[in-house]
Amino acid sequence: MANIITKPRGTSDLIGAAAERYQELVAALDRQARLCGCRPLQVPMFEENRLFKRGVGESTDIVNKETFDLAPKGDKVYTLRPEFTAGIMRAVIENKLYATPDLPLRLCYSGSAFRYERPQAGRLRELHQWGVEFLDAELDPATVAEAIVLMVDQARSLGLEPLLRINYLGSAASRQAYKAALVGYFEPLIDSMCPDCHHRLALNPLRILDCKVEADQKLVAGAPVITDYLTADDRDNYNRLLDILSAAGVEYELDSRLVRGLDYYTGAVFEIYSREHPELGALGGGGRYDGLVAALGGPAFAGVGFSFGLDRLLLAQPPAETEHSVDLVLLDLTRGAREKELAPLKRDLRARGLSAVAVNSGKALAGALKTADRLRARFFLFVDERGYHLKDLRARSQKDLGPSVTAEALAALLGERYAEN
Ligand code: AMP
Repeated sequence: MANIITKPRGTSDLIGAAAERYQELVAALDRQARLCGCRPLQVPMFEENRLFKRGVGESTDIVNKETFDLAPKGDKVYTLRPEFTAGIMRAVIENKLYATPDLPLRLCYSGSAFRYERPQAGRLRELHQWGVEFLDAELDPATVAEAIVLMVDQARSLGLEPLLRINYLGSAASRQAYKAALVGYFEPLIDSMCPDCHHRLALNPLRILDCKVEADQKLVAGAPVITDYLTADDRDNYNRLLDILSAAGVEYELDSRLVRGLDYYTGAVFEIYSREHPELGALGGGGRYDGLVAALGGPAFAGVGFSFGLDRLLLAQPPAETEHSVDLVLLDLTRGAREKELAPLKRDLRARGLSAVAVNSGKALAGALKTADRLRARFFLFVDERGYHLKDLRARSQKDLGPSVTAEALAALLGERYAEN
């Protein structure tokens, strides 16, 4: 065992129940998204590096410091996706998904993303996200609100008590005025700030608001706030959005420091937290991006999207009730004499939607019953030289079924027992 190879830092093996919870989580999120018209989309795990540079933004930590770049192949440099939105916009443009009368486009996705971060609880290098993107030529505040309401409702339906934080970054004109105000504020202070902030001041002063260095955060606390620099149009849009959210019964907190780690946002930005687990950080986040599709060579389409961090959702979710997960465990005590009739029986039971798990035929009855117990099976079927015997492990009863049994009869019997309790 000295030389075993272990998984890379910041990745996880999801085994058994953990993998099931992951899959159920994705299925539940997909189901809810479908109710508001989302269709799933799958995009590659790697794309050309320049897509993320242009799409996510060169001034972001995600692209600047955290990408997993693959060794160049030919004249292309590829990068493992650090997030989904850029790849999805590439796919929307390449496949002309915008060329439909049925707008807004509503897309949902899930899968791995890769960021070279310092791993800790809830911060991984291979993280998993689930999210949506809504796109339209003219995106009204009602559609933006719909995305936010979906996010809150999804968190709630997972048993979480969500806390929604919102800010508004505004159009190019608003941000121009705000960036100038930030430069004016930070320039005299920059010598005492971290090297990253020096870089940020030159490249995108908004990023300074995201700085994690404690001393810098104190200075950030006194910085101008974006909402004082919004144009009349932006202010109107923001207020309409907040009014719709209030009318939908969604509670929110305004957070004028929320800028998010991606460059493409131009309107509302938002993050969701768990009130029970604030230590996990944001469980999800998103915002409105008006210029991204055009910046990537597509039409002037606006979008709004969000993504959940599935790894954090799993940490925040209350543990599920343990229900029985296997219908039937089977044991052959005939040393293989019945193997030819058991094979079609198992197949037929599964075709009827029943889970039938066979233990190795060499196993003793007591050991096989323990396995059934660990699998939380409801029934146990064994066959010996006298024939078939069915145990109802909940009712603690046994029924002898005679020398042969059909899947149809067994399924009917199990159905009756399930109906009883
Ligand atoms: P972002 O794309 O940065 O807005 O991230 C969206 C969500 O993904 C966040 O709210 C987190 O829940 C999750 N997330 C982001 N980075 C990580 C990471 N390194 N490890 C685990 N989850 C992450």
